[in-house]
Amino acid sequence: MALEAQIHPYEILPERCNGCVICMKACPVKAIRLRDHRAVILRELCVDCGICQLMCPHNAVEHVTQPFTAIDSFPKPVAIPSVTLFSQFGYEVTPNQLLLALKHIGFAEVLDLSWLCEWTNEAVESYLLDHPELRPGISATCPVVVQLVEKYYPDLIPNLIPFLPPRLAAARWVKTKLAQRKGWRREDIGVFYISPCGARNVKMDSPRYAEHSYVDGMLCFHDVYGPILRALDEIEETEIIQKCSGVGLAWSLSGGHAEGIRVKHTLAVSGFREVLKILEMLDAGRLRELRFLEPLVCPDGCLGGTLAVENRFRAKSVTKWMVRRHGSKSKVDPRRVEKMIREGYFDWEVSPTPHPLPPLDPQPDQAIAKLRRLEEILESLAGGQCGACGSPDCRTFAEDVVRGMADLSDCPMPRSDENVCGGADKKNED
Ligand code: SF4
Ligand code: SF4
Repeated sequence: MALEAQIHPYEILPERCNGCVICMKACPVKAIRLRDHRAVILRELCVDCGICQLMCPHNAVEHVTQPFTAIDSFPKPVAIPSVTLFSQFGYEVTPNQLLLALKHIGFAEVLDLSWLCEWTNEAVESYLLDHPELRPGISATCPVVVQLVEKYYPDLIPNLIPFLPPRLAAARWVKTKLAQRKGWRREDIGVFYISPCGARNVKMDSPRYAEHSYVDGMLCFHDVYGPILRALDEIEETEIIQKCSGVGLAWSLSGGHAEGIRVKHTLAVSGFREVLKILEMLDAGRLRELRFLEPLVCPDGCLGGTLAVENRFRAKSVTKWMVRRHGSKSKVDPRRVEKMIREGYFDWEVSPTPHPLPPLDPQPDQAIAKLRRLEEILESLAGGQCGACGSPDCRTFAEDVVRGMADLSDCPMPRSDENVCGGADKKNED
């Protein structure tokens, strides 16, 4: 019954792509190339940030989610909305109204993640106190950050805090405990995460942290926005599904998670380039005075997600209002969280693994020779950084040539040394 796992959250539709190279220039990890005048994503480099989708002026980059009708494939569809969803409908719509609206549009059950976010704060704090050597512990809740660490900063993997993001801990709970409690067959339950960003699709939710996918599908805010708006007109607030946690609601803001961790020296950073700068500093052995780092690659945090509907500044204001209304002091019983920790409630089942880009050559002497060749090619290029060759910049093009992924003749600009390829090859042979 489970929907087929998606392979990647973003894909480029060749029929819409006109090869303008805007996405290739914008990709922060240089994961896009032009092949036959169309953009293609190199999956081994991509970290699923969605910036290419935001930048493409021709709507040629699509995020891969399930249609809303996918919930009909399951007798018991369960919604797990990101806490960011609560910031998308203005000041007057309460989280409880939104949870009721989700039930109204077809979900058999809805789960409020705000308490789980608050419990996760407590669990992370306890983990940091037990591991004073972690400097800092890095929150693993942003899936793009986890991919960045795995691919580009693998030395920082031990710093990732080994807890499931709340959405996945909740999904696991639904498939195990809730199923038991309700007497539902596990295969009848379809867990749908409602996401502000494409990186949290089912592929991200299955092998990355857990042995099985506890999430059957991902819906983006656009998919549910219209149906929720209509439902809000129709429902009456006769039932209190959940009084939300203010501390947990703050998680959609950059700094909301860090704010709830009572250890000395926490740092929250948001925005792709800023996150990169901080990871770069950590990788260089700096910032060791920090105990906790909350990196979120979307600007201002999850409410700046690529699939959010509301203007992020308004969403921020709505969230702050909701946090004030629900209270910003922790209300959880630490003994309850200690029990959950002992029972492994937060533990991920699969640890992140390093996936660094392979070296230029597995043999060190060959790698050095290829690096020399790369520098020679680079020196011979016109240096226009135009992308006409199909690589994002001249250095990446030279590297692509050395790796055998591009041909020197792909560069249409006049080169200073037309013999460089032959010359370098001769040196390698020597
Ligand atoms: S931005 Fe990228 S995907 Fe969009 S049309 Fe230009 S090259 Fe193609
Ligand atoms: S999703 Fe991000 S990392 Fe992947 S190709 Fe697009 S811009 Fe690059």
